[in-house]
Amino acid sequence: MEKKTAVAAGTMLPLMEAFYTIQGEGTFSGTPAYFIRLGGCDVGCVWCDVKASWEAAKWPVLPIEEIVEGALQYPGRLVVITGGEPLMYNLDPLTRLLKENGFTTNIETSGAHPFSGDFDWVCFSPKKFKTPHPSIYAVADELKVVVFHKSDFDFAEKHAVLVRENCRKLLQPEWSKSDLFINSIIDYVKSHPNWKVSLQTHKFMEIP
Ligand code: SF4
Repeated sequence: MEKKTAVAAGTMLPLMEAFYTIQGEGTFSGTPAYFIRLGGCDVGCVWCDVKASWEAAKWPVLPIEEIVEGALQYPGRLVVITGGEPLMYNLDPLTRLLKENGFTTNIETSGAHPFSGDFDWVCFSPKKFKTPHPSIYAVADELKVVVFHKSDFDFAEKHAVLVRENCRKLLQPEWSKSDLFINSIIDYVKSHPNWKVSLQTHKFMEIP
């Protein structure tokens, strides 16, 4: 199959990097996980810390069998698919293969593209720079809003009314603005107890 057709079908995907580490943020914080970072993102967050991922063409396009083979080299059986924006691709074949190989599948997404894939946990982190696709709201298990500006609290509440009732709601300071916003996040969560604080603990541990 031609590469372009295979990417459209989700049987080959552009892989920026893949690595075994500790999930540092969100509900699975502290859990060993194999990260699959797909190349390509059209969201354009000003504070993005993986801008190198934006251009999909820069990254090798690999068969999903090879991507899963990489994950199987490590003892952990949690995979986190991230990007870039992973929902730019059809993730049905990759997640099916991961599950056939015994993996728990998590995704981190801005929700900016139609949902695909068979995931055990969907972390939805909406961004102001590109409106989420409506398909994400019915499947999100975790709503994680990065706080970079004081208006982000209102932005978080706007999405909180759209997700399912049992969706976990997390506020996470953007790393470079942590000192500026951590106290207001703490105060906000104390007065709005349906929210929790999420920190990027991998950055404290200085791991990827
Ligand atoms: S969605 Fe993620 S990868 Fe894309 S620009 Fe925003 S932070 Fe960067």
